[in-house]
Amino acid sequence: MMSVRGTIKKYIIKSNLYRIGHLRNSCHILPYHMVADEPNPFYPEIEISQFKQHVIHLAENYHVLPLEEVANRIKQGKSLHRCVAITFDDGFLNNYTLAYPLLKQLHLPATIFLITDCIETGQPPWFIKFRYAFQTTRKEMIEVTCAGETLTLPLTTEENRLESSNIMMQDLRTRENDARKEMLESLFHLLEVDDFTALDGMMLHWEQIREMSRHGISFGAHTASHPVMSRISLPEAEHEVRVSMEVIQSHLGQKVATFAYPFGRINHYRPEIAAILQKCGITCAVTTEHAASNHASSLYELGRSFPWELCGV
Ligand SMILES: [Zn+2]
Repeated sequence: MMSVRGTIKKYIIKSNLYRIGHLRNSCHILPYHMVADEPNPFYPEIEISQFKQHVIHLAENYHVLPLEEVANRIKQGKSLHRCVAITFDDGFLNNYTLAYPLLKQLHLPATIFLITDCIETGQPPWFIKFRYAFQTTRKEMIEVTCAGETLTLPLTTEENRLESSNIMMQDLRTRENDARKEMLESLFHLLEVDDFTALDGMMLHWEQIREMSRHGISFGAHTASHPVMSRISLPEAEHEVRVSMEVIQSHLGQKVATFAYPFGRINHYRPEIAAILQKCGITCAVTTEHAASNHASSLYELGRSFPWELCGV
């Protein structure tokens, strides 16, 4: 027979009181990257029809706030009840062509974190070139040395190309910056992929960024070159932050107040970087750790999650 406590627990879950309680004092910062008509499994993409469902659901059920406002509410102890903020990392063109029209139509604010070297040059970030190389190589397998061990990576099916690229991405994220760049070059050589022109035109242009900034979209820094910040020195980290902020500020004529850690898991940054961000004038920074934010959250380590991931909405 079920205990009284068990019965109460069952009732709370069934009546969604848990869900409401969960949302009352916390907010969710949603992490998007790319939006696509037909998502490529090698890229962090969400299908546009699914994104549309998300934003309609958010507009109908939540207070969608600019990220800066969420940070203010956390700082000032104001209500976070059913608050969410929408964010996109990296600065891909499809944020403008596919996501922005929906956001504009629904009057929803969002923040896009820009990798400024990529915006300035029009070149995609290194991890996109890396995925592209694994997706398009004509090789059927490669042999690589990781941590002193020789690995044979099969490349005969889409599934094992993905799996092989995931294994190598894990390895790349743990390497020091120069070693990571060297490994990347040697992978392109092994995969025999050196033409990335198919990736031209993937990134936002400043004109589009300026247009969006006039209509509810704000822009945050995401470093200049998207390094793993726990694998570079603190002066290098400060340089990455400053360059990224200055480039955005020079194009938009506005101060940059928000920052997203590249890759964003706890092992991809370190606590000293928060002090650098603060010194540079950043008022809040987001990670990709799956967590809702509340009044106890650090403004320099705000997790990101979808509300329906954490509490079944
Ligand atoms: Zn990123």
